Amino acid sequence: MNPIIMALLLAVSLGIFAWSFMRRWKLLMVGSPEMRWDNVGERIKRTWVYAFAQKRMTRYTWAGVAHRMIFTGFMVLLIRSLILFSRGFIPDSSLLLFQPHTLLGDVYSLLKDIFVVLVMLGAIVFLYYRLVVKLPRMTKSTEGVIILGIIVVMMVADVLYDGAWMVLHVGADANVGFNVWEPAGSVMALMLQNAGTGMLTFLAHAGFWIHVSLVLIFLNVLPYSKHFHIITAIPNVFLQDLNPKGRLAPIVDIEGKLEREETLGIKSINQFSWKSILDFYTCTECGRCSDQCPANNTGKKLSPKHFTVDLRNFLYENEKGLVAGKNGTNGNGTNGHGSNGGGESTDEGGIHYKDLIDGVIDPEVLWACTTCRACETECPVFITYVDKIVDMRRYLVQERGEFPNELQTAFRGLESNMNPWGFAPDERANWASGLDVPLIAENPEADVLFWVGCAPSYDDRAKKTARATAILMKQAGVNFAILGPEEQCTGDPARRAGNEFLFQMFAEANTETLNGYNVKKIVTTCPHCYNTLDHEYGDYGGHYEVVHHSDFLADLVRSGKLKPTQPVKAKVVYHDSCYLGRYNDMYDSPRDLLRSIPGVTLVEPVETRDRGMCCGAGGAQMFKEEESGEERVNERRTEQLLKTDPNVVSSACPFCMRMLTDGLAGKDREDVEQLDIAEMLLRSVGETPNEATPETAST
Ligand code: SF4
Ligand code: SF4
Repeated sequence: MNPIIMALLLAVSLGIFAWSFMRRWKLLMVGSPEMRWDNVGERIKRTWVYAFAQKRMTRYTWAGVAHRMIFTGFMVLLIRSLILFSRGFIPDSSLLLFQPHTLLGDVYSLLKDIFVVLVMLGAIVFLYYRLVVKLPRMTKSTEGVIILGIIVVMMVADVLYDGAWMVLHVGADANVGFNVWEPAGSVMALMLQNAGTGMLTFLAHAGFWIHVSLVLIFLNVLPYSKHFHIITAIPNVFLQDLNPKGRLAPIVDIEGKLEREETLGIKSINQFSWKSILDFYTCTECGRCSDQCPANNTGKKLSPKHFTVDLRNFLYENEKGLVAGKNGTNGNGTNGHGSNGGGESTDEGGIHYKDLIDGVIDPEVLWACTTCRACETECPVFITYVDKIVDMRRYLVQERGEFPNELQTAFRGLESNMNPWGFAPDERANWASGLDVPLIAENPEADVLFWVGCAPSYDDRAKKTARATAILMKQAGVNFAILGPEEQCTGDPARRAGNEFLFQMFAEANTETLNGYNVKKIVTTCPHCYNTLDHEYGDYGGHYEVVHHSDFLADLVRSGKLKPTQPVKAKVVYHDSCYLGRYNDMYDSPRDLLRSIPGVTLVEPVETRDRGMCCGAGGAQMFKEEESGEERVNERRTEQLLKTDPNVVSSACPFCMRMLTDGLAGKDREDVEQLDIAEMLLRSVGETPNEATPETAST
């Protein structure tokens, strides 16, 4: 072709790309430090499964197939682009390795032709979604259409170049034929075989230069578009958080040392870690997160996609000042940020930009989150939300003292009486009256500590779950005890509401108590307690085997220590708790338990397991009013469950129980019972607690 033009084209476009890349790199480095290099083996494994094999895209039939075709095609066609660049200098170059009529050369050219067609088809599928179906979750922008158009033209240009080149090289006296190793190119050659040499030369050159130019234009567009994910998605998957999904990082470490020095929580964009900034870069704006978000789906202001996009836009708008501040070149070498507590903010170097909260993110957005993780479970590139939202709540609560009024009551109750309702601590074990449940002080050799939790201790409805569980454990001969008045809230609602110091107070007090009794194994009926005890108390010196009662009771049934023999005729729909399912992958035990009960017909709602909708209680929502929207989250969830026409809505979480009981009442469907799995099991095992009337087939 033309070595001078190719050399100029490569030098200019790669130069501009390197400059753009450095801009993005410097902006990334504005973020606070974070360690994401541990456990490389696990990271490689996950990168293979989620980035290369694109496991999460299998949830979307056609979009999933189309995305895989494009992704794999880009991998294969990377070599093709290098070959074409080299042909700018040496016309027949095949990078030595891919010479025609060698095994590697033939296999590669076959693969290349297959993927050229597949990439084109994939791009057409996405064009169809954008232009015809107009999926609401997708951002409406011409950028996406232009990029897809570029991809289609690149593929057509490649085949055109191959076809014209083949005809030119076959010689005037010979006919081109179908070549199994170059199917697309040879079909194009057959179509062009009657064209004149001038036309063929023009088409070969046009195909070649269009293809290579578009590759280089495409490369330079990436850092400035949502398609930057083509570069950042694989690193983002590799660098994902390997901690348990339910663990929030402490602000303050165990020695009381602040992890972030400037403020408690996040108020300005450079307090996010570099990995969070990589998350912002990587968002493809596909909207799958918002599609699953219970807040978004019930008309609240929160849309996780827009949360990320707004922060990304803000980051880009303030690039210059942030990078200057980081490098100490903003006039006086400072990189701190002063704030007037909302709205405009200034650093000492005179760089002006808005505070994140109020200025970029409405506080109502932050308070609408139930921390359900539906967004994170759905995101194909592993962008996280709960950590960012809680970090911003921490700033609001601990620095500004701004939070919904109702949370004040919960915080006060927690501070004075160690439970969010403010009930007296010495009434904590009243739920067990008449059951002869020992305190651990009386039975220090107990094999199991039954961690009851605040709701099952004080809430009249949830107390029945605690009683049922205790009765079942006694029937199975489990040597267990409770802490009674020594138990305090785990601190989960305080932590998710942003009150990290209050959480820390509980974590330290409870671990001291538990360690004082040398507790090894804990059973709890509350998924929030489960999550906190299992995944978060380790940061405070508490290391226990924590078992949720769904696993514990299912094991007792499997081992024959509990025998569900009495039929309980009921059509039961099970509601997945977010903190049990999406947080801890416990989907089967509660279902196994329900299936072990004779007479039970278990049905599934459409929105089930990791796509089950939140009940609306998590993230401290239980203790505050919902933000205004079109509908309450628990009512939407109740509707979904009622579509299965059940007699019983079963759950395994006291918070879900409260929300669904209210949801059923709101729908005038009190004819449908709301029962914990332990209550269901107790009905079948035989002996029943006084307040849980059996409805067995024999009665
Ligand atoms: S955690 Fe749940 S409520 Fe919060 S943004 Fe994600 S999907 Fe929405
Ligand atoms: S955060 Fe993930 S799921 Fe949501 S729009 Fe961005 S890429 Fe899509």
